[in-house]
Amino acid sequence: MFDLVIRNGLLIEADGVTKADLAIDGEQIAAVGLSLQGRREIDATDCYVLPGAIDPHVHLQMPLAGMVSADDFRTGTIAAACGGVTTIIDFVEPKPGQSMLEALALRQEEAKNKVAIDYGLHMTIPTWHANAADGLKEVPAVVEAGCLSFKMYQAYEGMMLDDVALLRALTAVGEAGGRTVLHSETGPVLDYLRAEALAEGHVEPIWHAYTRPAPLEASAVHRAAELADLASCPLYIFHVGCQESVEAILQARSRRIDIWGETCPQYLLLNAEEHLGGPNGALYVCAPPLRSVEDNRAMWHALAQDALQVVSTDHCPWTFEEKQQPDFTRIPGGVPSIEARLSLVHHFGVNQGLLTLERWVEVCSTNAARWMGLTRKGRLAPGYDADIVIFDPARIKKITPATLHEAAGWTPYDGMEVCGWPRTVLLRGKVIVEDEQYVGAPGDGRFIPRRPSALS
Ligand code: MN
Repeated sequence: MFDLVIRNGLLIEADGVTKADLAIDGEQIAAVGLSLQGRREIDATDCYVLPGAIDPHVHLQMPLAGMVSADDFRTGTIAAACGGVTTIIDFVEPKPGQSMLEALALRQEEAKNKVAIDYGLHMTIPTWHANAADGLKEVPAVVEAGCLSFKMYQAYEGMMLDDVALLRALTAVGEAGGRTVLHSETGPVLDYLRAEALAEGHVEPIWHAYTRPAPLEASAVHRAAELADLASCPLYIFHVGCQESVEAILQARSRRIDIWGETCPQYLLLNAEEHLGGPNGALYVCAPPLRSVEDNRAMWHALAQDALQVVSTDHCPWTFEEKQQPDFTRIPGGVPSIEARLSLVHHFGVNQGLLTLERWVEVCSTNAARWMGLTRKGRLAPGYDADIVIFDPARIKKITPATLHEAAGWTPYDGMEVCGWPRTVLLRGKVIVEDEQYVGAPGDGRFIPRRPSALS
């Protein structure tokens, strides 16, 4: 007799679909099989049963230019939970001269007692740490503390690493057994193009897209792949949105360079023409920028063909008011989608025949667990955490700010109707969303130290 049995569902995993019951004891999956008996049971007839979705790229309560991103660790993780997400990975950003371990402890303090789901943290290596003589000395201790992945940037003042700094940082991370997640764009040239456009009087949001050309994203990916290979450091390219970058990743993979790529709903479903919609045009500013409809199609194809491995969100919500700025260079970058990702990828991917059910689960959960070192997440097998989504594929949901739990007050997917939505969500055996209602408590989540996984 198990604590809980989820009965009659269709179990979807990256490597197959099975009709079976799933049993949970305590916080873990105990068995998968037929006619399992539980003290409690949940009927999942006509529903899919999946491993909890993992979003390895989110920015909750992130400070930027005197503002703070709209979702904090409480609202952001409740929204995530309602969308079927049971683990997120956010960021630590050490200040100049600040110890990485101290910054990590402070960030954990911010999340503690607020998080509705489990979380991990990437450690950012800003310019000031990368360029300081002893700025990388804590890297092994940070890996030991469970921050397996380090965030580096090839763009943005204060964050941007030149190629030498990037190589030094990649080497330090590689030697410590860590891995690197990268914002890949050719920052110095973009800064020049942006300044030129402003000097010519161009202030409209569309100039955000015009001044970040795709080939300058792809050339940064290409250089980073070569440097990561020299440094023997596994590399994961964040938010890929253009065909040129997919080609750069494929070329590197064909040479057996250890590189993965992720995309996000905005690069699958939105394009640069969104910027032309009056005051709403500013809402869609994110970096890398939105590209074309052809690029959208190419991202779906890349996911299906394993040229890209993960769909994250880069959830970084700002209010409508915060997005209204005098010129495109001052608009805080980022769009929200922490809640709708799993359903958007199901509706526009699986329902349209672009992805199989297995691949949907793989790109929204299993692959992120593998690469990010979440060794007990992402699968429906005994011994894994009982992070479970009971997903009703027939549930029709109209996405609006009112039907979501996100705090930005707007969503790029406003008015879209999707078929398929999470009904019930369990975090380590505890029901936190029941029939679409959040029933958990802030603080249910915990920090998950991440370790290199035997699976990856
Ligand atoms: Mn980001």
